Amino acid sequence: MAHRTEALFRDDAYLRTADATVVAINERGGIILDRTIFYATSGGQPGDSGHLDRADGSRIAIAATISGETKDEIIHVPEPEQATPQIGERVNLAIDWGRRHLLMRMHAACHLLTVVCPFPITGAAVSEDDSRVDFDIPDASFTKEEVTAGMMELVRADHPIFTRLISDEELAANPGLVKSKNVRPPVGTGKIRLVCIGENASVDSQPCGGTHVKSTGEIGEIHIGKIEKKGRENRRFRIRFGPMPAA
Ligand SMILES: [Zn+2]
Repeated sequence: MAHRTEALFRDDAYLRTADATVVAINERGGIILDRTIFYATSGGQPGDSGHLDRADGSRIAIAATISGETKDEIIHVPEPEQATPQIGERVNLAIDWGRRHLLMRMHAACHLLTVVCPFPITGAAVSEDDSRVDFDIPDASFTKEEVTAGMMELVRADHPIFTRLISDEELAANPGLVKSKNVRPPVGTGKIRLVCIGENASVDSQPCGGTHVKSTGEIGEIHIGKIEKKGRENRRFRIRFGPMPAA
């Protein structure tokens, strides 16, 4: 039976610690809690690492976080040779915040890229030092300098980034909200989470379950490191932190 873990990071991506209770240990030693601040790998964003502190002062290091049988079941995968906690045990959770914050900045940067390049997305992957988004682009005239300038304009404007829940019906009435060509947001659950940028979502809104920083300014300086040709009409854009290196 799949458990339902309360995903605290959905309402507050800035939670670095929290208390939780162990509800199950799966057959591979994965730890399932009643609630968590650990994001599970999904939608191109890698899961969190971190640790669980036990009441006796010992610590269980968590190497990765994944979802289980359903998206609502979040599994904390311990590093090798860790002790196994008891069912019902209270633990204090801490994520590797430095890494998570880089992922939040990068993930938000990917949203900005989709504003500057408003084309169907065919794939995306976020990592702490290099992220990519693939698009179907009929017009291949984009340069990394132009796209970088467009993204940095949005960063400097320091637009707010926030989430909003909408119904399946609202989404059906606004098909333009979905930019991903291959991945459809899950419908039938009643509510879809939109990630919005700008006052009243004036810059962008799209369905997304990931973690993002709370304003575009917090992303900081970014640039397009590379635009790769992946097919006649497909381009892969790579985002990196820092200023664009001199040519
Ligand atoms: Zn997102």
